[in-house]
Amino acid sequence: MSRDAAIQASTSLLDSGAFLEELSRRVAFRSESQNPASAAELDRYLVEEMQPELHAMGFTTEIVPNSVPNRGPFLIAQRIEDPAAPTVLIYGHGDVVHGQDAAWREGLSPWTVTPEGERWYGRGTADNKGQHGINLAALREVLAVRGGKLGFNAKVLLEMGEESGSPGLAAICRDRAAELKADVLIASDGPRLSADRATIFLGSRGAFNVGLEYKARERAYHSGNWGGVIRNPATVMANAIASMVDGQGRLKVEGLLPPPMPNSVRAAISGLTVGGGETDPAIDEDWGAEGLTPAERLFGWNTLEVLAMGAGNPDAPMNAVPNAAKATVQLRYVAGTDASAIVPAIRAHLDAHGFGMVQIAESDREASPATRLDPDSPWVRWASASIAQTLGRPPAILPNIGGSLPNHVFADILGLPTLWVPHSYAACSQHAPDEHVLVPVVREGLALMAGLFWDLGENAPKA
Ligand SMILES: [Zn+2]
Repeated sequence: MSRDAAIQASTSLLDSGAFLEELSRRVAFRSESQNPASAAELDRYLVEEMQPELHAMGFTTEIVPNSVPNRGPFLIAQRIEDPAAPTVLIYGHGDVVHGQDAAWREGLSPWTVTPEGERWYGRGTADNKGQHGINLAALREVLAVRGGKLGFNAKVLLEMGEESGSPGLAAICRDRAAELKADVLIASDGPRLSADRATIFLGSRGAFNVGLEYKARERAYHSGNWGGVIRNPATVMANAIASMVDGQGRLKVEGLLPPPMPNSVRAAISGLTVGGGETDPAIDEDWGAEGLTPAERLFGWNTLEVLAMGAGNPDAPMNAVPNAAKATVQLRYVAGTDASAIVPAIRAHLDAHGFGMVQIAESDREASPATRLDPDSPWVRWASASIAQTLGRPPAILPNIGGSLPNHVFADILGLPTLWVPHSYAACSQHAPDEHVLVPVVREGLALMAGLFWDLGENAPKA
Protein backbone atom coordinates (compact mmCIF):
# COMPACT_ATOMS: atom_id res chain seq x y z
CA MET A 1 0.00 0.00 0.00
CA SER A 2 1.10 3.56 -0.65
CA ARG A 3 1.59 4.49 3.01
CA ASP A 4 4.13 1.70 3.25
CA ALA A 5 5.72 2.84 -0.01
CA ALA A 6 6.22 6.35 1.39
CA ILE A 7 7.79 4.98 4.57
CA GLN A 8 9.96 2.66 2.51
CA ALA A 9 11.09 5.53 0.26
CA SER A 10 11.90 7.66 3.29
CA THR A 11 13.99 5.06 5.11
CA SER A 12 15.75 4.05 1.89
CA LEU A 13 17.40 7.50 1.99
CA LEU A 14 19.41 6.10 4.85
CA ASP A 15 20.37 2.87 3.06
CA SER A 16 21.33 4.65 -0.17
CA GLY A 17 23.57 7.14 1.63
CA ALA A 18 21.51 10.06 0.31
CA PHE A 19 20.52 11.30 3.76
CA LEU A 20 24.10 11.13 5.04
CA GLU A 21 25.29 13.10 2.02
CA GLU A 22 22.61 15.76 2.53
CA LEU A 23 23.33 16.06 6.25
CA SER A 24 27.08 16.23 5.64
CA ARG A 25 26.62 19.15 3.27
CA ARG A 26 24.53 21.00 5.86
CA VAL A 27 26.78 20.29 8.82
CA ALA A 28 29.65 21.83 6.80
CA PHE A 29 28.02 25.26 7.17
CA ARG A 30 29.55 26.88 10.26
CA SER A 31 26.26 28.43 11.22
CA GLU A 32 27.16 29.38 14.79
CA SER A 33 24.63 32.00 15.85
CA GLN A 34 26.63 32.85 18.98
CA ASN A 35 29.70 33.73 16.90
CA PRO A 36 29.51 37.11 15.09
CA ALA A 37 32.26 35.95 12.68
CA SER A 38 29.86 33.29 11.34
CA ALA A 39 27.06 35.72 10.43
CA ALA A 40 27.37 35.13 6.66
CA GLU A 41 26.92 31.39 7.17
CA LEU A 42 23.47 31.97 8.62
CA ASP A 43 22.22 33.47 5.35
CA ARG A 44 24.11 30.95 3.27
CA TYR A 45 22.44 27.98 4.98
CA LEU A 46 19.02 29.27 4.03
CA VAL A 47 19.92 30.45 0.52
CA GLU A 48 22.16 27.58 -0.60
CA GLU A 49 20.54 24.63 1.21
CA MET A 50 16.99 25.31 2.25
CA GLN A 51 15.63 27.42 -0.59
CA PRO A 52 16.64 24.97 -3.37
CA GLU A 53 15.26 22.02 -1.38
CA LEU A 54 11.94 23.78 -0.76
CA HIS A 55 11.65 25.14 -4.33
CA ALA A 56 12.11 21.61 -5.66
CA MET A 57 9.09 20.58 -3.60
CA GLY A 58 6.99 23.43 -5.00
CA PHE A 59 7.21 25.83 -2.07
CA THR A 60 7.40 29.58 -2.51
CA THR A 61 10.02 30.97 -0.17
CA GLU A 62 11.02 34.28 1.33
CA ILE A 63 14.08 35.18 3.38
CA VAL A 64 12.97 37.63 6.05
CA PRO A 65 15.62 39.77 7.79
CA ASN A 66 15.50 39.72 11.57
CA SER A 67 13.78 42.72 13.16
CA VAL A 68 16.51 42.57 15.81
CA PRO A 69 19.68 44.16 14.38
CA ASN A 70 22.66 41.88 13.60
CA ARG A 71 20.73 38.66 14.17
CA GLY A 72 20.18 35.80 11.77
CA PRO A 73 17.40 35.81 9.16
CA PHE A 74 14.27 33.66 8.90
CA LEU A 75 12.88 31.64 6.03
CA ILE A 76 9.14 31.42 5.46
CA ALA A 77 7.97 28.91 2.86
CA GLN A 78 4.48 27.97 1.72
CA ARG A 79 3.02 25.25 -0.42
CA ILE A 80 -0.74 25.66 -0.74
CA GLU A 81 -2.60 22.85 -2.53
CA ASP A 82 -6.15 23.56 -1.45
CA PRO A 83 -7.27 26.29 0.94
CA ALA A 84 -9.86 23.85 2.33
CA ALA A 85 -7.26 21.21 3.21
CA PRO A 86 -5.49 21.12 6.58
CA THR A 87 -2.30 23.15 6.94
CA VAL A 88 0.80 22.15 8.87
CA LEU A 89 3.49 24.55 10.05
CA ILE A 90 6.92 22.92 10.22
CA TYR A 91 9.58 24.66 12.30
CA GLY A 92 13.31 24.14 12.62
CA HIS A 93 16.53 26.02 13.31
CA GLY A 94 19.61 25.98 11.12
CA ASP A 95 21.93 27.69 13.57
CA VAL A 96 24.15 25.74 15.94
CA VAL A 97 26.08 26.48 19.13
CA HIS A 98 29.85 27.10 18.99
CA GLY A 99 31.72 24.37 17.17
CA GLN A 100 34.31 24.07 19.98
CA ASP A 101 36.62 22.62 17.31
CA ALA A 102 39.58 21.94 19.58
CA ALA A 103 37.57 20.01 22.18
CA TRP A 104 36.29 17.20 19.95
CA ARG A 105 37.73 13.73 20.32
CA GLU A 106 40.68 12.95 18.04
CA GLY A 107 39.49 12.06 14.55
CA LEU A 108 36.25 14.05 14.85
CA SER A 109 35.44 17.54 13.61
CA PRO A 110 32.28 19.56 14.27
CA TRP A 111 31.99 20.49 10.56
CA THR A 112 32.31 17.01 9.03
CA VAL A 113 29.85 14.21 9.62
CA THR A 114 31.83 11.18 10.79
CA PRO A 115 29.95 7.87 10.97
CA GLU A 116 31.23 5.47 13.62
CA GLY A 117 29.08 2.38 14.09
CA GLU A 118 25.57 3.52 14.99
CA ARG A 119 26.64 7.10 15.64
CA TRP A 120 27.05 10.00 13.25
CA TYR A 121 29.16 12.76 14.79
CA GLY A 122 29.02 16.44 13.83
CA ARG A 123 27.77 19.78 15.12
CA GLY A 124 24.05 20.11 14.38
CA THR A 125 23.53 16.42 13.57
CA ALA A 126 21.14 16.34 16.55
CA ASP A 127 20.46 20.02 17.16
CA ASN A 128 18.84 20.76 14.77
CA LYS A 129 20.00 20.14 11.17
CA GLY A 130 19.54 16.38 11.39
CA GLN A 131 16.08 16.76 12.91
CA HIS A 132 14.57 19.24 10.45
CA GLY A 133 16.45 17.42 7.68
CA ILE A 134 14.58 14.21 8.55
CA ASN A 135 11.26 16.05 8.44
CA LEU A 136 11.89 17.69 5.07
CA ALA A 137 13.21 14.44 3.59
CA ALA A 138 10.11 12.54 4.74
CA LEU A 139 7.89 15.27 3.32
CA ARG A 140 9.71 15.04 -0.02
CA GLU A 141 9.18 11.27 -0.23
CA VAL A 142 5.47 11.51 0.65
CA LEU A 143 5.08 14.12 -2.08
CA ALA A 144 6.77 11.84 -4.62
CA VAL A 145 4.81 8.72 -3.69
CA ARG A 146 1.55 10.66 -3.83
CA GLY A 147 2.37 11.76 -7.36
CA GLY A 148 3.27 15.38 -6.70
CA LYS A 149 0.53 16.00 -4.14
CA LEU A 150 0.63 16.07 -0.36
CA GLY A 151 -3.10 16.18 0.38
CA PHE A 152 -2.49 19.10 2.76
CA ASN A 153 -0.92 22.52 2.77
CA ALA A 154 2.55 22.95 4.23
CA LYS A 155 4.31 25.97 5.63
CA VAL A 156 7.87 26.08 6.89
CA LEU A 157 9.46 28.53 9.31
CA LEU A 158 13.21 28.25 9.80
CA GLU A 159 15.15 30.46 12.16
CA MET A 160 18.90 31.02 12.46
CA GLY A 161 19.04 32.27 16.06
CA GLU A 162 17.53 29.60 18.32
CA GLU A 163 20.82 29.01 20.11
CA SER A 164 20.96 32.73 20.92
CA GLY A 165 17.52 32.80 22.51
CA SER A 166 15.43 33.09 19.30
CA PRO A 167 15.71 36.88 18.89
CA GLY A 168 12.92 38.20 16.63
CA LEU A 169 11.00 34.91 16.53
CA ALA A 170 8.04 36.22 18.51
CA ALA A 171 8.06 39.40 16.41
CA ILE A 172 7.98 37.60 13.05
CA CYS A 173 5.16 35.36 14.28
CA ARG A 174 3.19 38.44 15.30
CA ASP A 175 4.00 40.36 12.08
CA ARG A 176 3.41 37.41 9.73
CA ALA A 177 0.61 35.69 11.67
CA ALA A 178 -1.62 35.52 8.58
CA GLU A 179 1.07 33.84 6.44
CA LEU A 180 1.97 31.43 9.23
CA LYS A 181 -1.64 30.52 10.00
CA ALA A 182 -2.02 26.74 10.23
CA ASP A 183 -3.99 23.98 11.93
CA VAL A 184 -1.08 22.34 13.72
CA LEU A 185 2.64 22.72 14.37
CA ILE A 186 4.79 19.66 13.80
CA ALA A 187 8.43 20.16 14.71
CA SER A 188 11.39 18.20 15.97
CA ASP A 189 13.99 19.27 18.52
CA GLY A 190 15.38 18.01 21.79
CA PRO A 191 15.57 14.43 23.01
CA ARG A 192 13.23 11.46 23.12
CA LEU A 193 12.30 10.19 26.58
CA SER A 194 14.89 7.49 25.89
CA ALA A 195 16.70 6.43 22.72
CA ASP A 196 14.46 3.43 22.08
CA ARG A 197 11.16 5.14 22.84
CA ALA A 198 9.58 7.32 20.15
CA THR A 199 8.20 10.39 21.89
CA ILE A 200 5.73 13.21 21.32
CA PHE A 201 5.99 16.18 23.64
CA LEU A 202 3.36 18.86 23.78
CA GLY A 203 5.04 21.88 25.31
CA SER A 204 7.69 22.87 27.80
CA ARG A 205 7.98 23.96 31.40
CA GLY A 206 8.64 27.60 32.05
CA ALA A 207 11.68 28.96 33.86
CA PHE A 208 11.68 32.07 36.04
CA ASN A 209 14.76 33.23 37.92
CA VAL A 210 14.52 35.38 41.04
CA GLY A 211 17.55 37.06 42.61
CA LEU A 212 17.45 37.47 46.40
CA GLU A 213 19.69 39.86 48.28
CA TYR A 214 20.13 40.98 51.86
CA LYS A 215 22.75 43.59 52.50
CA ALA A 216 22.70 44.39 56.23
CA ARG A 217 25.66 46.76 56.43
CA GLU A 218 28.59 48.14 54.45
CA ARG A 219 31.19 45.81 55.92
CA ALA A 220 31.67 42.60 57.88
CA TYR A 221 32.17 42.76 61.65
CA HIS A 222 34.30 40.49 63.90
CA SER A 223 32.21 37.55 65.04
CA GLY A 224 33.87 37.55 68.49
CA ASN A 225 33.03 41.16 69.16
CA TRP A 226 29.61 41.27 67.52
CA GLY A 227 28.37 37.71 66.96
CA GLY A 228 25.08 37.19 68.76
CA VAL A 229 24.03 40.82 68.75
CA ILE A 230 23.91 41.73 65.05
CA ARG A 231 21.75 40.02 62.43
CA ASN A 232 23.72 37.58 60.23
CA PRO A 233 22.72 37.95 56.54
CA ALA A 234 23.89 34.40 55.71
CA THR A 235 21.71 32.94 58.46
CA VAL A 236 18.78 35.10 57.37
CA MET A 237 19.16 34.06 53.71
CA ALA A 238 19.47 30.36 54.55
CA ASN A 239 16.28 30.54 56.61
CA ALA A 240 14.43 32.62 54.03
CA ILE A 241 15.20 29.95 51.40
CA ALA A 242 14.28 27.17 53.85
CA SER A 243 10.90 28.81 54.37
CA MET A 244 10.27 28.58 50.59
CA VAL A 245 11.63 25.08 49.92
CA ASP A 246 12.24 22.56 52.72
CA GLY A 247 15.00 20.00 53.29
CA GLN A 248 13.16 17.43 51.13
CA GLY A 249 12.84 19.80 48.16
CA ARG A 250 9.16 20.52 48.81
CA LEU A 251 7.86 23.87 47.64
CA LYS A 252 6.34 25.80 50.57
CA VAL A 253 5.13 28.98 48.86
CA GLU A 254 1.39 28.61 48.37
CA GLY A 255 1.23 31.01 45.41
CA LEU A 256 3.92 29.11 43.46
CA LEU A 257 2.11 25.77 43.26
CA PRO A 258 0.43 24.83 39.99
CA PRO A 259 -3.32 24.24 39.72
CA PRO A 260 -4.39 20.60 40.24
CA MET A 261 -2.90 18.26 37.65
CA PRO A 262 -5.50 17.53 34.94
CA ASN A 263 -6.45 13.86 34.68
CA SER A 264 -5.33 13.78 31.04
CA VAL A 265 -1.86 14.98 32.08
CA ARG A 266 -1.66 12.51 34.98
CA ALA A 267 -2.70 9.69 32.65
CA ALA A 268 -0.11 10.64 30.02
CA ILE A 269 2.66 10.79 32.61
CA SER A 270 1.69 7.51 34.31
CA GLY A 271 3.70 5.04 32.21
CA LEU A 272 6.84 7.23 32.03
CA THR A 273 10.14 6.47 33.68
CA VAL A 274 12.60 9.24 34.49
CA GLY A 275 16.32 8.67 33.95
CA GLY A 276 18.05 5.34 33.52
CA GLY A 277 20.30 6.48 30.65
CA GLU A 278 24.05 5.94 30.79
CA THR A 279 24.87 9.52 31.76
CA ASP A 280 21.77 10.18 33.89
CA PRO A 281 22.05 10.85 37.63
CA ALA A 282 20.33 8.47 40.06
CA ILE A 283 16.83 9.68 41.00
CA ASP A 284 16.22 10.54 44.67
CA GLU A 285 12.80 8.97 45.21
CA ASP A 286 12.24 10.83 48.49
CA TRP A 287 13.02 14.28 47.04
CA GLY A 288 10.37 16.72 45.84
CA ALA A 289 6.62 17.15 46.10
CA GLU A 290 4.79 14.65 48.30
CA GLY A 291 2.38 12.13 46.85
CA LEU A 292 3.78 12.34 43.30
CA THR A 293 5.91 9.97 41.27
CA PRO A 294 9.27 11.23 39.97
CA ALA A 295 7.74 11.58 36.47
CA GLU A 296 4.87 13.65 37.86
CA ARG A 297 7.33 15.86 39.73
CA LEU A 298 9.42 16.43 36.59
CA PHE A 299 6.74 16.78 33.92
CA GLY A 300 3.61 17.75 35.83
CA TRP A 301 4.59 19.97 38.74
CA ASN A 302 6.52 23.06 39.81
CA THR A 303 9.86 23.06 41.55
CA LEU A 304 11.90 25.80 43.23
CA GLU A 305 15.61 25.23 42.72
CA VAL A 306 18.44 27.14 44.39
CA LEU A 307 20.77 27.87 41.47
CA ALA A 308 23.41 29.77 43.42
CA MET A 309 24.00 31.25 46.86
CA GLY A 310 26.78 33.03 48.64
CA ALA A 311 27.97 34.97 51.70
CA GLY A 312 31.48 35.53 52.98
CA ASN A 313 34.11 33.42 51.25
CA PRO A 314 33.45 29.68 51.61
CA ASP A 315 36.99 28.89 50.42
CA ALA A 316 38.63 31.16 52.99
CA PRO A 317 36.27 31.76 55.94
CA MET A 318 37.05 34.65 58.25
CA ASN A 319 36.01 35.24 61.86
CA ALA A 320 33.39 37.72 60.78
CA VAL A 321 29.67 38.19 60.42
CA PRO A 322 29.31 38.75 56.66
CA ASN A 323 27.75 42.04 55.65
CA ALA A 324 25.53 40.60 52.89
CA ALA A 325 24.16 37.41 51.33
CA LYS A 326 22.87 36.65 47.85
CA ALA A 327 21.03 33.80 46.17
CA THR A 328 19.29 33.04 42.89
CA VAL A 329 16.31 30.73 42.96
CA GLN A 330 14.48 29.42 39.91
CA LEU A 331 10.92 28.31 39.54
CA ARG A 332 10.48 25.62 36.86
CA TYR A 333 6.77 25.63 36.27
CA VAL A 334 4.06 23.96 34.23
CA ALA A 335 1.26 25.51 32.19
CA GLY A 336 -1.52 26.96 34.32
CA THR A 337 0.91 28.75 36.65
CA ASP A 338 0.54 32.54 36.47
CA ALA A 339 4.07 33.79 35.79
CA SER A 340 3.13 37.37 36.63
CA ALA A 341 2.21 36.22 40.16
CA ILE A 342 5.60 34.66 40.93
CA VAL A 343 7.39 37.74 42.28
CA PRO A 344 4.38 39.03 44.28
CA ALA A 345 3.92 35.55 45.81
CA ILE A 346 7.58 35.38 46.90
CA ARG A 347 7.44 38.92 48.29
CA ALA A 348 4.29 38.20 50.29
CA HIS A 349 5.72 34.91 51.57
CA LEU A 350 8.99 36.47 52.72
CA ASP A 351 7.15 39.32 54.45
CA ALA A 352 4.74 36.95 56.20
CA HIS A 353 7.61 34.82 57.49
CA GLY A 354 9.62 37.68 58.94
CA PHE A 355 12.06 38.09 56.04
CA GLY A 356 11.00 41.55 54.93
CA MET A 357 14.67 42.57 54.87
CA VAL A 358 15.43 40.15 51.99
CA GLN A 359 15.16 42.11 48.76
CA ILE A 360 14.07 40.72 45.42
CA ALA A 361 16.83 41.92 43.10
CA GLU A 362 16.22 43.18 39.59
CA SER A 363 17.55 40.03 37.95
CA ASP A 364 14.01 38.70 37.60
CA ARG A 365 13.23 37.57 34.12
CA GLU A 366 10.97 35.22 32.29
CA ALA A 367 13.14 33.25 29.89
CA SER A 368 10.45 31.02 28.47
CA PRO A 369 6.79 30.73 29.48
CA ALA A 370 5.24 27.33 30.09
CA THR A 371 3.07 25.68 27.42
CA ARG A 372 1.22 22.41 27.18
CA LEU A 373 -1.25 21.06 24.65
CA ASP A 374 -3.92 18.93 26.36
CA PRO A 375 -2.92 15.25 25.90
CA ASP A 376 -6.62 14.64 25.19
CA SER A 377 -6.42 16.83 22.05
CA PRO A 378 -7.56 15.01 18.90
CA TRP A 379 -4.21 15.98 17.35
CA VAL A 380 -2.34 14.04 20.03
CA ARG A 381 -4.49 10.95 19.55
CA TRP A 382 -4.07 11.23 15.79
CA ALA A 383 -0.27 11.54 15.92
CA SER A 384 0.05 8.83 18.53
CA ALA A 385 -2.02 6.40 16.44
CA SER A 386 -0.01 7.24 13.32
CA ILE A 387 3.34 6.60 15.00
CA ALA A 388 2.02 3.40 16.61
CA GLN A 389 0.95 2.16 13.19
CA THR A 390 4.35 2.95 11.67
CA LEU A 391 6.57 1.54 14.42
CA GLY A 392 4.28 -1.16 15.81
CA ARG A 393 4.33 0.35 19.30
CA PRO A 394 2.88 3.58 20.74
CA PRO A 395 5.06 6.61 21.42
CA ALA A 396 5.57 8.11 24.88
CA ILE A 397 3.42 11.23 25.33
CA LEU A 398 5.11 13.91 27.39
CA PRO A 399 2.72 16.74 28.31
CA ASN A 400 5.80 18.95 28.27
CA ILE A 401 9.55 18.53 28.44
CA GLY A 402 11.19 19.57 31.70
CA GLY A 403 13.40 22.08 29.88
CA SER A 404 12.63 24.95 27.53
CA LEU A 405 11.96 25.65 23.85
CA PRO A 406 10.42 28.71 22.14
CA ASN A 407 7.10 26.85 22.01
CA HIS A 408 5.05 29.71 23.51
CA VAL A 409 5.54 31.54 20.22
CA PHE A 410 3.60 28.82 18.39
CA ALA A 411 1.15 27.90 21.17
CA ASP A 412 0.31 31.41 22.35
CA ILE A 413 1.09 33.88 19.54
CA LEU A 414 0.02 31.66 16.63
CA GLY A 415 -2.50 29.72 18.75
CA LEU A 416 -1.48 26.32 17.33
CA PRO A 417 -1.75 22.82 18.77
CA THR A 418 1.94 21.90 19.09
CA LEU A 419 3.32 18.42 18.40
CA TRP A 420 7.07 17.95 18.93
CA VAL A 421 8.49 14.69 17.67
CA PRO A 422 12.18 14.55 18.68
CA HIS A 423 14.72 12.50 16.71
CA SER A 424 17.53 12.62 19.26
CA TYR A 425 18.30 11.32 22.75
CA ALA A 426 19.55 12.79 26.01
CA ALA A 427 23.17 11.59 25.72
CA CYS A 428 23.67 13.09 22.20
CA SER A 429 26.17 15.71 23.53
CA GLN A 430 24.15 18.53 22.03
CA HIS A 431 25.83 21.85 22.96
CA ALA A 432 29.05 19.93 23.77
CA PRO A 433 31.93 18.36 21.85
CA ASP A 434 31.17 15.05 20.07
CA GLU A 435 27.52 15.84 19.27
CA HIS A 436 25.96 12.93 17.39
CA VAL A 437 22.77 11.24 16.26
CA LEU A 438 21.94 7.56 16.53
CA VAL A 439 21.33 5.83 13.20
CA PRO A 440 18.43 3.67 14.53
CA VAL A 441 16.70 6.83 15.77
CA VAL A 442 17.24 8.52 12.40
CA ARG A 443 15.73 5.47 10.69
CA GLU A 444 12.69 5.53 12.96
CA GLY A 445 12.42 9.28 12.48
CA LEU A 446 12.40 9.00 8.67
CA ALA A 447 9.75 6.27 8.93
CA LEU A 448 7.42 7.84 11.45
CA MET A 449 7.56 11.30 9.86
CA ALA A 450 6.67 9.80 6.46
CA GLY A 451 3.76 8.05 8.20
CA LEU A 452 2.64 11.27 9.89
CA PHE A 453 2.78 13.29 6.66
CA TRP A 454 1.03 10.51 4.78
CA ASP A 455 -1.76 10.41 7.35
CA LEU A 456 -2.06 14.19 7.40
CA GLY A 457 -3.25 13.97 3.80
CA GLU A 458 -5.67 11.14 4.64
CA ASN A 459 -7.28 11.53 8.04
CA ALA A 460 -6.23 14.75 9.79
CA PRO A 461 -8.46 15.73 12.71
CA LYS A 462 -11.09 18.27 11.70
CA ALA A 463 -10.28 21.76 13.01
ZN1 LIG B 1 20.26 23.70 21.01
